[in-house]
Amino acid sequence: ALYGPTGKPERTNYLVMLNPFGGTRNAARIYSQIVVPMAQLAGISLTLLETERAKHAMEYVHGADLTPFGGILSISGDGLFHEIVNGLLTREDWETARRMPLGIIPAAYNNHTGGGFPVGTGNALAVSVDQPTPELGMIAAISGSARVMDIMALTSLETGRTYYSHEMLTWSLVADVDIESERFRWAGPARFTMSAVVRLINMRKYRARIHYLLDPKDPNAAEAGVSGTDVTVVTTEGQILVDVEKDDGAPMAADNAEVVDVNPPTAQHPSVHGPKPILTDFCRKLGESGTSLTLPQGWHTYDGALEHFIATSVPWIGSDVFISPAAGISSGHIDLVWSANLGGPLKTLSMMTDNGKGDYLRSQSMRWHQVRAFVLEPLGRAKDESVKGIMDVDGEVVACESLAVECLPGLARILTP
Ligand code: ADP
Ligand code: MG
Repeated sequence: ALYGPTGKPERTNYLVMLNPFGGTRNAARIYSQIVVPMAQLAGISLTLLETERAKHAMEYVHGADLTPFGGILSISGDGLFHEIVNGLLTREDWETARRMPLGIIPAAYNNHTGGGFPVGTGNALAVSVDQPTPELGMIAAISGSARVMDIMALTSLETGRTYYSHEMLTWSLVADVDIESERFRWAGPARFTMSAVVRLINMRKYRARIHYLLDPKDPNAAEAGVSGTDVTVVTTEGQILVDVEKDDGAPMAADNAEVVDVNPPTAQHPSVHGPKPILTDFCRKLGESGTSLTLPQGWHTYDGALEHFIATSVPWIGSDVFISPAAGISSGHIDLVWSANLGGPLKTLSMMTDNGKGDYLRSQSMRWHQVRAFVLEPLGRAKDESVKGIMDVDGEVVACESLAVECLPGLARILTP
């Protein structure tokens, strides 16, 4: 066994994935100067895979024999971690693979912590689990204790394809800022600020339809007739969404936690293995029906203008961009925040520079909900609906299509002490 009676690793082998271009190109230096010496002190052996191109990590994790490994460490930003999650969850043996403890080593120093390396770029997950530096990420990895983590399953209503997110889905303002910031990558985290300034003085208006299923934790849920604390939802098809794993706050030994199985993959998804989001068929009907369908209890629809839309399962979506005090890696729900009209550049700037309490959410113009699932229909730019806009998942561009998104509570595991 890789783990002793105390639940601490006695000796293990981590697969380390490193994106040499992540952050501000410091991943290789962080590996040799921080990760290797700390692993040696802890008696942990490492197997390194330096990625040669985008999707390399995903393909490797999807197909490789992972039995020699007690965990996988990602040295980069959220993009590489996203690839690892998607590689694992689309494996034929995803039900076992999803339990692989995952470590996040930011290829950067975040939150102005300084240090010997220039700061890097987006590390939402690292900041959200209080591991904003590579050293803290390594301490978590060495501890060997893992915590369950929610994953969002996103299904295109156009192609039926499902993929996964550990962080966020955004469209309109934040997506535009995030993706357009790539050209300022040389500026480190300031790339987001620079890109935001450009967008704020020329705010784009979009139109969207959003159908959402409130979580019982949402303050409006009782009014709307949503009750219960278990994640159990009966859809029109009579299917049930099963609570996978709850985080009771106690860390668990990486390989001995009890696991309740999610829905097994079915023949309806022939080419893709992985957890089948069970509300998706229903969401597809919603998407096809526009607003004509009578919604079952708990479901609501927004149809209108949009300047800002974000769905997140982590509190921070960048080293200094805070979204929601209700979000947490294992909260069991998705935080949905949108606004039809942010009220001009200054108000928008105050939203983007929130101090970590979410004060901006109190503004009249913000809509904020805790949901189990939602459908986003991006209807395009208000001026010209043929311009769909940029859809961004975990900092990566994806096809801009109607998406059904569902929270899969506690599906993955992250190394965090
Ligand atoms: P950052 O936080 O700096 O954005 P990410 O981990 O998000 O770092 O990586 C940025 C992008 O680089 C992702 O799209 C990832 O898939 C891609 N990528 C990974 N390895 C390579 C590589 N060897 N060459 C080019 N791109 C890569
Ligand atoms: Mg990135």
